[in-house]
Amino acid sequence: MPTSLLTDLTSLTDYHHDATTYSAEPIALLLAESEGDIITAVRFCADNNIPITARGAGTGLSGGCVVSPGGLLLSTERLRQLDLIPERRMAICGPGVITKELVDAAAAHNLTYPPDPASYEESTLGGNVAENAGGLRCKRFGVTKDYIMGLEAVLPDGSLLKTGYFNQGAGFSLGDLLIGSEGTLAIVTRIALRLIDCPGRGETILVGFDQAENGARTVTEINTAGIIPTVMEFLDGDAAACSNEYEKSGDFDIVAALLLIETTDIKAQEQACQIEAICQNNHCSFLRKETDPDQTDKLWRIRRNLSLAVKAATDLRISEDVAVPNSQFPTLVGFVAEMNHQSRLRINSYGHAGDGNLHVNFMAPSDSDDHLAEIDRWVAILMRKSIQLGGTLTGEHGIGLAKRNYLDLEFDTPTLEIMQIVKSIFDPRFTFNPDKLLPPKNNLV
Ligand SMILES: Cc1cc2nc3c(=O)[nH]c(=O)nc-3n(C[C@H](O)[C@H](O)[C@H](O)COP(=O)(O)OP(=O)(O)OC[C@H]3O[C@@H](n4cnc5c(N)ncnc54)[C@H](O)[C@@H]3O)c2cc1C
Repeated sequence: MPTSLLTDLTSLTDYHHDATTYSAEPIALLLAESEGDIITAVRFCADNNIPITARGAGTGLSGGCVVSPGGLLLSTERLRQLDLIPERRMAICGPGVITKELVDAAAAHNLTYPPDPASYEESTLGGNVAENAGGLRCKRFGVTKDYIMGLEAVLPDGSLLKTGYFNQGAGFSLGDLLIGSEGTLAIVTRIALRLIDCPGRGETILVGFDQAENGARTVTEINTAGIIPTVMEFLDGDAAACSNEYEKSGDFDIVAALLLIETTDIKAQEQACQIEAICQNNHCSFLRKETDPDQTDKLWRIRRNLSLAVKAATDLRISEDVAVPNSQFPTLVGFVAEMNHQSRLRINSYGHAGDGNLHVNFMAPSDSDDHLAEIDRWVAILMRKSIQLGGTLTGEHGIGLAKRNYLDLEFDTPTLEIMQIVKSIFDPRFTFNPDKLLPPKNNLV
């Protein structure tokens, strides 16, 4: 697709949506080739009051890169400059660099970039910054914000904001405001990222439970004991069944819940023994340990492909990524099972349990109005429950279009007003992704 500005997007449907069911056709698509292209487009849109929505790879799960009404879609996918500076353990990247490209480039120097969303073979670093993406290894290594040394970004008036590494670092930490801002405050054009020494691999442990709550309680107890494995993922039985069906591997027995854990490389065996004891105390039905790289890769594919596996199992799947404090994780898992029991929908769950994240999937045989209304009703119930348990509406997928109606459950009015003021200082004309993140009542469009 060589042309950089496209105005007939009817057949380019990939650019109408992200990984959700939200969809809209842009009035034009700019495949930016440089920061200069972005500045020119932003100035034109500011002068003509045209909304702009930034887009990376379109793997978002909250509708964030679905173009705002009457708007330009500005893709940063072609900004793929990747400068590795191994001696400083850092990289300077364009926003279009695919997350795994950076991980692979760093590995050649025995370094790594730890935040690894399950989508990391497709997602871009620009999208990761805008969503503050987490990943499988976030339990031990943290999320995107923990690795950002500086950002360069185009503001809604076309001026450049340089933060952190790109501009010393004293004063307000403006870069932090941009992380997780979902393209509503600025379009990120350069990202300075911290790398760390490549950790060795520990042991991979697959554990099954006949009671989902026992699996969830095991997560809580491992956390409470202060054990920090590299990865700790939870899958309920139905999500695991979707994976078995998708992978056609039959790699594990279907039980009520599975935990997939990777211990740290340091003291791997000691950690594995502690984890094993907690699993046994919680009546696990099987426990399998793997160190052989081929076998462990096979197990990790279960988790990496899970979102696709669940999607393939039904006609309509809407996934919400709530998160709760560690102590409330078993209650949340039990609540999801009860929702599944009570509703006409198929509802299953999986997630980065080590961090209290649970992706809850609402599945229906069609996208009829009836099914959509039923899903909306149960999503609202889940949101309220997560907040009641002291949690959050989103562990990592962002607010986007999907959750803006629920924001006042999580934030009080003064906080929402401050967010609104921040938005209007950065973007007084509301041209940057104006219908995302903030609640509709605060919005001018
Ligand atoms: C199978 C699957 C698994 C996933 N697993 C995870 C996971 O484990 N952890 C996780 O956190 N997420 C996960 N996600 C969600 C998604 O991959 C992440 O949110 C990712 O960060 C989005 O990157 P993207 O390049 O696709 O961004 P897009 O979807 O294109 O955009 C996302 C948001 O970022 C904004 N944006 C994009 N580029 C820029 C830019 N240059 N400047 C400013 N704003 C910008 C957009 O406006 C939009 O609001 C998963 C998604 C899928 C489909």
